[in-house]
Amino acid sequence: MAAGRLLLVEDEPGLQLTLNDRLLAEGYAVETAGDGETGLARALAGGFDLVILDVMLPRRDGFDVCRTLRQRGVTTPVLMLTARGQVVDRVVGLKLGADDYLTKPFESAELLARIEALLRRAGQTAEQTGTPSAARHVFGDVVVDVRKAEVTRAGVPVDLSAKEFQLLRYFLEHRGATLSRDELLHEVWGYEHTPSTRTVDVHVAWLRQKFEANPKVPQVIQTVHGLGYKFIG
Ligand code: CA
Repeated sequence: MAAGRLLLVEDEPGLQLTLNDRLLAEGYAVETAGDGETGLARALAGGFDLVILDVMLPRRDGFDVCRTLRQRGVTTPVLMLTARGQVVDRVVGLKLGADDYLTKPFESAELLARIEALLRRAGQTAEQTGTPSAARHVFGDVVVDVRKAEVTRAGVPVDLSAKEFQLLRYFLEHRGATLSRDELLHEVWGYEHTPSTRTVDVHVAWLRQKFEANPKVPQVIQTVHGLGYKFIG
């Protein structure tokens, strides 16, 4: 088993290669992205224990990636890499939700120490609070409290039926994954009285009415044609 799953977002090919090799040698599973847009998409899809995020990136800078991740409720620890002299960046980055900072150039031993510390801290948090990511979800201006079964949008309570809530929760627990109608029926409904995949479509439509800015052009729960649905919010 890998020591942890890391996403490395770094556009300098030499540094990306060096870090990738070093991290692999330490037993980490590493995925790499060479620009901010790709890095954001990978991080949103989830499954990482830590994101190593360069600040200066093509297509979308590291600050923007970090801010967007936090706005979407992604709590994966972020270690930012910044160039020497970007003093102000430290403050700005921490405000945006980065967990730690490393100034280039750095020794790989220093990077490894920071990674270990962040992973340890994240592990302790998870132990103390059970599974924090499963207890509370955030997307856009919506907050979902799983334990209380309460949902608010811009601070205003949203009424959901039990099935709508269970479907929303399943989507939130599988952000970025393409979920087939059959899987949703099986996992959310358990096939009870509802042999029709149409049931899923109807409930998705209801959720879209409640959470999409424009339900006709859904951004939060997207249709994957021929396959099912994907929760992106
Ligand atoms: Ca860079």
